[in-house]
Amino acid sequence: MPAGSEPMARKTERKPSRVEGLIEDAIGKNPHSRELLTAFKPLLVVRERLIGELKLKPADRARIDGEKLRRGIPCIGQTPFFFEDDPWKAVGLAVAGAVREGFPALAEDAATLAGAIEAGKIRLFDAFADYPDSVGAALDRWTAETHIKPQAVALLLGAVAGIILRARSAGIGGDVEKTGWDRGTCPICGASPTLSVIREKITERWLHCSRCGHEWRFTRMICPGCGLESPSGIDYFYVDDRRQETAFTCDSCKRYLITLNHVSDLGETDRDVTAMGLVHLDLIMQERGFAPMCRCEWNTF
Ligand SMILES: [Zn+2]
Ligand SMILES: [Zn+2]
Repeated sequence: MPAGSEPMARKTERKPSRVEGLIEDAIGKNPHSRELLTAFKPLLVVRERLIGELKLKPADRARIDGEKLRRGIPCIGQTPFFFEDDPWKAVGLAVAGAVREGFPALAEDAATLAGAIEAGKIRLFDAFADYPDSVGAALDRWTAETHIKPQAVALLLGAVAGIILRARSAGIGGDVEKTGWDRGTCPICGASPTLSVIREKITERWLHCSRCGHEWRFTRMICPGCGLESPSGIDYFYVDDRRQETAFTCDSCKRYLITLNHVSDLGETDRDVTAMGLVHLDLIMQERGFAPMCRCEWNTF
């Protein structure tokens, strides 16, 4: 064996991370989600690793005002979550590497992006300086300047935002919970949910944020998308008698939200992995003329 090959061999034999195990379980349960989950696996692994390693200073909880939350202003509208001296380059390069690995069709674009980030031609903080408006402007500019597909830039920016937001919002959830936030959008970052979960013991509905991963309680009687109150026009759709995995639908805004019923609080989960595992429901609902409550990187066909 050539001397140089040993570290590589060691690297490939490493123990799978927590999220990799969850991805394998999800593929086992829903084999049709294999392609999607395999593509996103490197991104999910990088996210898990970086959140553990980054040790970012948390957002300033003292500036978060319960009264403003009650008026519907999320935490990100009250105190900054993105700082110029955050490790943008390291996060950006790690994410670009994961895009390259998971999405062969975007591999060349991801390499171009990595080169521009490395050379300082792209400063990722520029996309977050005036969040969320600055994201769209940066996406347009970098797509034009580097001649790469907008999907590659969008995938990179979405993943970077998710990592920084998760790392920075540690500990804030408890404060928010006490204020009785009653909106269908995330109290931390303002994004819409990709999944809702009705737990096993106390049958409340919890919404899972597509962007920062925060979960908040939301009444089961109202559509999170438009505020329509049940029973009129609100329904649950499921296939093959799998009543644990449903799509909540609203006739008023014509949107759906994938909803898990009677989910145990025990055991490890990653809600994004769970949601991607149920992508067949997204397909069916969109074929039936419903739009997702939140369009994200993987649920638009
Ligand atoms: Zn959020
Ligand atoms: Zn609605």
